[in-house]
Amino acid sequence: MFRVSQFMHELVAPTPVGPRRNPPGPVVIWNLIRRCNLTCKHCYSISADKDFAGELSTAEVFEVMTDLRGFKVPVLILSGGEPLLRPDIFTIAEKAKAMGFYTALSSNGTLIDEAMADRIKGIGFDYVGISIDGIGATHDHFRARQGAFAESMGGIRRCVARGIKVGLRFTMTMDNAAELPQVVDLMESEGVTKFYFSHLNYAGRGNKNRLDDATIQITRDAMDFLFDTAWKHAGAGREREFVTGNNDADGPYFLSWVKRHFPDRAGHIAAKLVQWGGNASGVNVANIDNLGEVHPDTMWWNHNLGNVRNRPFSAIWQDVSDPLMAGLKRHPRPVEGRCAACAHLAACNGNTRVRAQRVTGNVWAEDPGCYLTDEEIGLA
Ligand code: SF4
Repeated sequence: MFRVSQFMHELVAPTPVGPRRNPPGPVVIWNLIRRCNLTCKHCYSISADKDFAGELSTAEVFEVMTDLRGFKVPVLILSGGEPLLRPDIFTIAEKAKAMGFYTALSSNGTLIDEAMADRIKGIGFDYVGISIDGIGATHDHFRARQGAFAESMGGIRRCVARGIKVGLRFTMTMDNAAELPQVVDLMESEGVTKFYFSHLNYAGRGNKNRLDDATIQITRDAMDFLFDTAWKHAGAGREREFVTGNNDADGPYFLSWVKRHFPDRAGHIAAKLVQWGGNASGVNVANIDNLGEVHPDTMWWNHNLGNVRNRPFSAIWQDVSDPLMAGLKRHPRPVEGRCAACAHLAACNGNTRVRAQRVTGNVWAEDPGCYLTDEEIGLA
C-alpha cells in the first residue's frame, strides 16, 4: 500500500529520514466468510450468494485472535465475501475491539441500512471501507446488480451521518477509468475523507478479466490525477487521505511526479521511498481466508502457507521453509528481469509477485504490471 497523502505531507513539512522498519506484527486481512450478495467482476475470492462449507466457527476465530494479539498484530480488517452476512460478525468485531485491535470492516455497503449502521457505530469500528467502482450504471455493471450503486451510497451516507470513518475503494479497469474523477468528487459531496485506489490485480475473478486491465497510459494518467488531487488537499491543509494498492511502482512513479513539480524535494522523497520499502506481502500484510488457510496476502489464494486449525498463525507466519515466504521476506527480493536491474528496487521491492507468477509462471519474474518507462527505472 502506498500512502500518497503521507508523502504529500513530506513535501509540505519534511520529516527526518530513518531506517526502514517492519512493524511488530502484520496487518491481517481476514476473509471471515466467502458468501456475498453480489458477484463482482474483479472479486479475488470468487464469492457467490451461497454458504461455503468448512468456515471457521466463532470459537475458532476467537482462538486465532488470541494468537494474533500475542503476535502483536495491530490491525484486523474483517472482510469477505460480504462480512455483514456472517451472523456473528458483530460478536467478532466487539471482541476484536475489546482486545485492542484497530478494527476495520471491508464491505460492499449494500446491506448497511439504518439498523446496521447503528450496530457498526455501536461496535466502534475504526474504519469502514466501501467499494464504489463507478457512477450509477457503471458500478451496477461491475457489481452485476442493478441498484447496487444506490444501495452502496446509502450505506456510505448512513455511516458518515453517524461519524464513522469511511473510505471509498475504487478498483480501476478500462471500463471505469474515465469515471475516476467523478468517484473522487464523491468524497467532497458525501463528506468522505479517505480514498483507496486499487490497481487491478490478477487473482480470482480479476485474473479471468485480465484483458480488461487499464493500459499503461491510462494508469499513468490516473496516478497523475490522484497525485494532483492529493496535493491540492495537502497544500490547502485539508485532511484527506489518498492511498493506493496492488502496484508498488506507484512509489517510484510518485518520484517522477515530484521531479516534475518539486525538483528540489526529489532527494528527500527518494530517501523516504526507500524508508517505506515497497511491497510488503508476506511481511507486513497477511491474509487468512474463510477456511483458515493463511496466505501471503489476499491475492495469493492459490498458495496456502498452512491452516490456523492445525498450527497457530504466529508459527505459520514465521516459517520460511516455504520458498515463496523465504523470498518474500528478503529485502530486496530475489527478482529478475527489469525489476532486478531497476534503480528503484529498494523503494518498490519488485512490486506484486502474484502478478508475475500468474502471467509468466515464474514468481520472481519482473512484474508485468509495472507502468514505468525504461528511462524512469534507469535502464535507458
Ligand atoms: S521495474 Fe520492478 S522494481 Fe522497478 S518500479 Fe517497476 S515493478 Fe518496481
